[in-house]
Amino acid sequence: MIHSLTDKVRFNNGVEIPGLGLGVFQIPDEDTAEVVKNGIINGYRLIDTAQIYGNEVGTGVGIKEGLAATNIKREDLFVTSKVWNNHLTYEETITAFEETLKRLELDYLDLYLIHWPGKAAFKESWQALEELYSAGKIKAIGVSNFEIHHLEELLSFAKVTPVVNQVELHPKLAQQALRDFCEKHDIKVQAWSPLMQGKLLTDPVVKDIAEKHQKTPAQVILRWDIQQDILLVVKSVHEQRMKSNADVFNFELDSADMTRLNQLNEALRVGPNPDEFDF
Ligand code: NDP
Repeated sequence: MIHSLTDKVRFNNGVEIPGLGLGVFQIPDEDTAEVVKNGIINGYRLIDTAQIYGNEVGTGVGIKEGLAATNIKREDLFVTSKVWNNHLTYEETITAFEETLKRLELDYLDLYLIHWPGKAAFKESWQALEELYSAGKIKAIGVSNFEIHHLEELLSFAKVTPVVNQVELHPKLAQQALRDFCEKHDIKVQAWSPLMQGKLLTDPVVKDIAEKHQKTPAQVILRWDIQQDILLVVKSVHEQRMKSNADVFNFELDSADMTRLNQLNEALRVGPNPDEFDF
């Protein structure tokens, strides 16, 4: 279990990722630099963006400004991006990666993910990621929104096992079968939309547990992930919320709290179902 914002978890290839990171989905490019810079100043060491978010330029500027403001080095940060679904041929994936790197103004990525399995085959895209990985341009490669059957297909031809599967995961969508599969194959699970994009914050059970611990509903949910060793990325554009989302290492949910939170699971998604999303 991680005990601070800088605590890391080891992937199957030895690379380490901070357990709790800052996501920048749905932040306009022109606002992203400020958010990323504030995130770094407030101790976040993992920044999660994607080609499709349209804010890799702002993310890159924020990284530069954050490094300058804190005196930490590029190697102390962990930067993730993702290739979108219209880039699933080998060549297009390589090109998409090079463009991402250019927009971010970085010379390597820590983690690069296939964003969605999509309907097209992802074999070529994965082979491109393997190539970029062996060339040292990416420290680790993984997938996002892969169901068990997608992972089985991937593992049937992959030379490099993905380090992570980043999926929607929160108390309303516990993803236990997928988590078990990933654990068996030494693939870490990372939660996206851990707060269900804010929708879980008014849940009466979450609020009740928050009151009991004198914590916020967001802190209770993030703690639920941390106590289960689930990696996560959470987003806020507000500095106060960024700070409080990171202030989750000084209390403990007891087993009764965990049971109540686990009972909220109803396989409910805020995002698309990977098997139904029409790409
Ligand atoms: P989150 O579950 O992180 O929720 C973000 C929402 O909750 C925002 O509206 C934010 O508002 C609000 N919020 C955050 N903290 C608090 C707080 N303490 N109190 C009240 N409201 C709060 O949703 P995301 O969808 O952003 O998921 C997190 C990250 O996961 C993304 O940013 C992205 O990096 C990644 N992701 C990946 C996907 C994939 O397909 N791989 C899909 C979706 C997300 P405000 O900003 O105004 O504070």
